[in-house]
Amino acid sequence: MPASRRVTRAVAEVLDLAPRKGEVTLQRLVDAVSTDRGRDIEVKMAELPEGVCGQWRQYNDHDEFLIQRGLPTWDRTLAHELGHLVLGHDGIAVAEVARRATEIASDDLISYMLNQRTGCMGPGGEDIEQDAEDFAALLLYRLGRMPSDRSSIVQVRLGEAFG
Ligand SMILES: [Zn+2]
Repeated sequence: MPASRRVTRAVAEVLDLAPRKGEVTLQRLVDAVSTDRGRDIEVKMAELPEGVCGQWRQYNDHDEFLIQRGLPTWDRTLAHELGHLVLGHDGIAVAEVARRATEIASDDLISYMLNQRTGCMGPGGEDIEQDAEDFAALLLYRLGRMPSDRSSIVQVRLGEAFG
């Protein structure tokens, strides 16, 4: 399946998990994905190495999305990390975190891919970062257009299919 189709489908799957009542926020979607997987996802602010916007850490029993403190694009970064997770990319196993933090402060910076669109770096390689970026962009776009009344979503979907 082409990357774009995979991303589009992942976004649709996440939106399908959206709570049926109340406003659908990104945080609520993260919670819904967490419930669906049966694994807690904690979202925290953190002081990450310079140039890193977000980080997904995998613990034995839960996941953590760390977002760089003071980042103006919080939502975008959170959606990006969620994209990595639902697209089946690998987060950073916790034992590796310390080692990577050292690497990123050294000349090994070059081994980290620079994400052109956000100026954020990720360890996963260009394709994976691009997928996560596409996911984030599409998810936030769809989220922004989502009616607060869940019952009308079906109509929106139909409108998209035929329109
Ligand atoms: Zn990334």
